[in-house]
Amino acid sequence: METLPQLFSLNEALLFERAKTIGQKWEKSYWSPVVLNGGCKTEPKCRHCKWESFKNSRTSFDGKRTLSQVLKCAETMLNAGATHLLAPSGWMGYEIPDYFCTYIQAIKDHFRVPVYGLFGSIRLSSLLKLKDAGMDGYQCGLESPDEAIYRNFRPGGDSLGDRINTLVNAKKAGLKIWSGFLLGFGISDKAIMRGLKLLKELSADWVAIQPFVPFPDTELQREDPANPYRWARIMAITRLYMGDESHLVATENSGAYANFMDLTGANSFFIFPPENNSACR
Ligand code: SF4
Repeated sequence: METLPQLFSLNEALLFERAKTIGQKWEKSYWSPVVLNGGCKTEPKCRHCKWESFKNSRTSFDGKRTLSQVLKCAETMLNAGATHLLAPSGWMGYEIPDYFCTYIQAIKDHFRVPVYGLFGSIRLSSLLKLKDAGMDGYQCGLESPDEAIYRNFRPGGDSLGDRINTLVNAKKAGLKIWSGFLLGFGISDKAIMRGLKLLKELSADWVAIQPFVPFPDTELQREDPANPYRWARIMAITRLYMGDESHLVATENSGAYANFMDLTGANSFFIFPPENNSACR
């Protein structure tokens, strides 16, 4: 098994070829988001938050969805080709509201597809309730393994330690876990290596290295997006490092990132609701 410094020093042709070969062995999967609540209790808000940007252009994005809206959105995205559903909400506190369990159970009863929650840092008791409701896994990003960068774009809310505890507890609860971090804001290769080691120690079942993309009306709107070549390279290194243990998820499917997608070795992708789709707004 090569070390991370060895993987970082591989030449690009070999790195991308090997990542592609591993990626091709995996079954492909397609994730779609089905938002449960567009609100968020984190204060102050994260300086890069795309949901805050969405709320400026469509106020309907904010707040709790009804059960029928959630089921309609799930049906729409499954018809569009999704094989797995991600049920996100802004952070509602360390204990989740009970209706999250009701909604997850209803999605499972209606569609019988894998459903993962994404509600930020939450307690073991909440994870156990969600598992009882039928939730298959939990997604909780590390956001940034560099704590100074983490607090720069996430001045409020949960800490990196809270997020790691949530992932450990999710494993304890018998859930699959999905994690990763954001590539951007000058993160160093050394910090990326720390993040990848942590993901391996956590035995993450799904891993995503997400390129930072700025959104309008956010405090960080003037920041440069992550370089697509560097993103592809770090994804390919992740593919080789995590080996056969983890799915690799590409969270971006358009623009310059789509051009580099084939090099990454990703086997899992996103299908997002089209802009004009009324079922998932
Ligand atoms: S926790 Fe998520 S939804 Fe809430 S402000 Fe931060 S990025 Fe936005």
